[in-house]
Amino acid sequence: MKGKLFAISGPSGVGKNSVLSRVMQLRDRVQYSISATSRPMRPGEIDGKSYYFVTRAQFEQMIAAGELLEHAEYVGNCYGTPKSQVCTRLESGVSVILDIEVQGAAQVKQKLPEAITVFLAPPGLDALERRLRGRGTESEETIRARLDTARREMALAPSYDYTVINDDPDRASRELGAILDK
Ligand code: 5GP
Repeated sequence: MKGKLFAISGPSGVGKNSVLSRVMQLRDRVQYSISATSRPMRPGEIDGKSYYFVTRAQFEQMIAAGELLEHAEYVGNCYGTPKSQVCTRLESGVSVILDIEVQGAAQVKQKLPEAITVFLAPPGLDALERRLRGRGTESEETIRARLDTARREMALAPSYDYTVINDDPDRASRELGAILDK
């Protein structure tokens, strides 16, 4: 049996990681795809686990070699899904979760219409701003840019197969889990 492909988007600071890690803990036939990015590594991140951290030139080589299923630029950095993270797993019956922004999710849906797209939304923009500031990992300029991007992303929620509101990580992970298990 083939695995299912899920593309999960949501604005920066929505709490995707905590919802996704709860969902993944309980499911061994669902795996997380590790993206390539040209963004600098944040404290605590691990190369090959959080992301494959590459230079912009290396990223462009990956595009030229056709190694990426999708890719996009997000707040000045490149992000993309290596095909190697997805194809063999789906063939062997393992489902794959992509944590990707909106342009990438649209590319995935266009290439693979059977992919299931889920938008994880904050209860409101105020909550999002509080979370972004509380994280303390970004400069004021980056926070502003991420909030502007979030406003534009939220307008695209209706184009997703499902929208889940992260008002509480336990509740949201149960709702997302039910979508994964359908
Ligand atoms: P962050 O810099 O906070 O780790 O991620 C920024 C944004 O990039 C998030 O919305 C995340 O979902 C998105 N992202 C991460 N990996 C990929 C990817 O492979 N492709 C695309 N299109 N977006 C990604």
